[in-house]
Amino acid sequence: MARHQRQPGGVTMNALSIDVEDYFQVSAFAPFIPRADWDTHECRVERNVERILELLETSGARATFFTLGWIAERYPQMVRRIVDGGHELASHGFGHHRAHDQAEDAFFADIDLAKLVLEDIAGVEVRGYRAPSFSINGDNPWAFDCLCRAGYKYSSSVYPVRHDHYGMPDAPRFAHLVRPELLEIPVSTVRFGERNWPAGGGGFFRLLPYAVTRQLLRRINQTDGQAAIFYLHPWELDVEQPRISGLDGKTRFRHYLNLHRTERRLQQLLADFVWGRVDEVFPIDGEPVVEQWPPLASAPDAGALLDRSEILAADAEPVRAAFSAPRARR
Ligand SMILES: [Zn+2]
Repeated sequence: MARHQRQPGGVTMNALSIDVEDYFQVSAFAPFIPRADWDTHECRVERNVERILELLETSGARATFFTLGWIAERYPQMVRRIVDGGHELASHGFGHHRAHDQAEDAFFADIDLAKLVLEDIAGVEVRGYRAPSFSINGDNPWAFDCLCRAGYKYSSSVYPVRHDHYGMPDAPRFAHLVRPELLEIPVSTVRFGERNWPAGGGGFFRLLPYAVTRQLLRRINQTDGQAAIFYLHPWELDVEQPRISGLDGKTRFRHYLNLHRTERRLQQLLADFVWGRVDEVFPIDGEPVVEQWPPLASAPDAGALLDRSEILAADAEPVRAAFSAPRARR
């Protein structure tokens, strides 16, 4: 743990996140694989998570595992290994429903159940939530109210980019309060021209050359003076996963592209940056847990960025209209 507390030379600690679901549960496969058929597919998530845990241990990194309740109930030992490894256990919902496909009651029931299941198995509080396919946007701000009601403290469910499956391009790029007790930590983007571009992992980590990923993360740390939040899925390391038939060309391309490169790239990513849990990189409790963030001399006022009210004032204002509920003023 001490390894991350202070980094000589003012190196930023970034947050690594793993969305724990299996290859047949991805949203792009939903038209091809009904939930009722999930149990008929070979589960490979346990071995893939095990490999990620080994890589993290070797590099001394820690991460946050946004885990599906459906998976946790079937692999409780895996959930406990995540926690025993010093990583943060968080929620990816129970059944991988996209928030914008659900009614409010159904969404609440899903995220509430996931939290209870995960906490029951692991014996730790689950504070974080990530919506499947970053499916919280300007159309369903009630989802944030549901998260508060269920007792979550932060969300990482908004991707401030334009994409055919997700995205809220006008959302703030950095952590901001969306409710008095709920911090939203959008997946990392970079700003070029008038647009935000994905820089937080997922399919783009496999699509782009690794050097591009490294450059984008450095830009966030050095130019923006912010910590990055990056994500990947266990199945993205699994070259031997069963191939799903009947997919359209775009879905097939996106899912299977460069799977054989992911593990090597992850090793490089772990070597090139310092990685921690979401709850140690970002001020979940309103207090900075990681002393050095943001550490860079180029940041205009490093101390102010650690204040949640400052985050709110600086970043949330331009999108106030997108969230209908009243904001916190502290
Ligand atoms: Zn997911």
